[in-house]
Amino acid sequence: AAKELGEPYRWYDPELDRRAGEDARTGAELRTALDAGQLRLVYQPIVELPAGRLIAVEALVRWHHPERGVISPAQFIPVAERNGIIVEMGAWILREACRQAARWRSDHGPAAPQRVSVNVSARQLARPGLAEVVASALAESGLPAACLTIEVTETAVFETDRAQETLRQLDRMGVRIALDDFGTGHSSLALLRTVPAHALKVDKSFVDEVTAGGRTSVIAAAVVRVADALGMAAVAEGVETAEQAVELHRLGYRLAQGYHFGRPAERLPGAGREAA
Ligand code: C2E
Ligand code: CA
Ligand code: CA
Ligand code: CA
Repeated sequence: AAKELGEPYRWYDPELDRRAGEDARTGAELRTALDAGQLRLVYQPIVELPAGRLIAVEALVRWHHPERGVISPAQFIPVAERNGIIVEMGAWILREACRQAARWRSDHGPAAPQRVSVNVSARQLARPGLAEVVASALAESGLPAACLTIEVTETAVFETDRAQETLRQLDRMGVRIALDDFGTGHSSLALLRTVPAHALKVDKSFVDEVTAGGRTSVIAAAVVRVADALGMAAVAEGVETAEQAVELHRLGYRLAQGYHFGRPAERLPGAGREAA
């Protein structure tokens, strides 16, 4: 089974990896990873509160390294971004996630998740052609555009002018856009004025403190009201306890994701656990 971030890597020094990751060897290894089929996708449930009914899944990439075992994307995505291989890797991830989602739809009908979410990095968004890659992944798999969500971070959106143009193109195609790690960037509110987003994914750092009361819950409650008023969905990320799920639901959250409801897995997640 895929190991999750934060468990087997507690001893790990990210700064050391960043430097090591920049060497040409890792770059070449990522090339091999892609060509030799060492990359796999796992899927984490996004559920409805309070009952935990499965609504969507988020695709998360894993690298099954022949010697080092399962490597977390937090370690290799930044390297792939710097050496540019993320563009090709990202295209594979999009095709694979659409193929899998289309297959679940035909195998499980209404029990299949309604949507699959795919993370797209700053560099992918900065280049021309992302909309075409998405269009061909949809055409190839037969997945309807409305069943795909593209997750982007605030930083990625503000890095280039092209990013916003690409998001408008995806929006016109009928693809959904989610703002990932919402609230951790530098311009969350400015982004809401111009980006055609359909969902906000409220960062785990807010969820972690939501049961402590205080300022964090006030902000978390305000964010869900802004989302509602703009006709957007709000997803609470990184929900680990029943207490958090109950509190988020009380604050107005209808969608949640986190270990409490299910860890990322290769197979289709079953129905989520009860929130209360
Ligand atoms: P993210 O998009 O914010 O994804 C959520 C991360 O939080 C995932 O880690 C997920 O396994 C983890 N997570 C989910 N629920 C919980 C929880 O309750 N507690 C805790 N402690 N963690 C939870 P993962 O899979 O290691 O991914 C890390 C990051 O790597 C992602 O953050 C995303 O930025 C990037 N990433 C992952 N897959 C892809 C991909 O296919 N393409 C791109 N461009 N980036 C990816
Ligand atoms: Ca994400
Ligand atoms: Ca996130
Ligand atoms: Ca994150």
